Amino acid sequence: MIAAIRELVRGFSLTFRQMLTKPITIQYPEERREPSERYRGLHALRTDPGTGRERCIACCLCARICPSQCIRLVTSEEEDRKVIDIYDIDLGHCLFCGLCEEVCPVEAVVLTRRYEAACYRRSETILHKQDLLRHGEGR
Ligand code: SF4
Ligand code: SF4
Repeated sequence: MIAAIRELVRGFSLTFRQMLTKPITIQYPEERREPSERYRGLHALRTDPGTGRERCIACCLCARICPSQCIRLVTSEEEDRKVIDIYDIDLGHCLFCGLCEEVCPVEAVVLTRRYEAACYRRSETILHKQDLLRHGEGR
């Protein structure tokens, strides 16, 4: 009987202590947690701030190194350089390993700290070039 009362008191004191501590949950989406500096989230394609041109030189190294083969590139020739016409990343297969960012010789593709990738349809898991450029705005 005494043991049961002791356990009851311990239980209530734990509950009471927790009531006085700061909650660890947040009211998403009104509140958003800031990911760490090293967080690898959704990809972005960067443009040159001076000229506004895409930094990508269509070398295809990112697609070649990707371990899950989830980058699809279609390139073409412009007058003075190669450009990408299609740059798709299938997030359903991406490991967020960051190898595409590491291998890129001109720092065109980067992983941002964006983490909101929920969607309703499977087709929406593919990021297209326009999405990637939008993610890269101001970077
Ligand atoms: S983060 Fe890794 S898995 Fe995802 S696209 Fe880049 S190389 Fe591929
Ligand atoms: S994003 Fe970088 S690695 Fe990928 S094709 Fe463009 S320049 Fe090459």
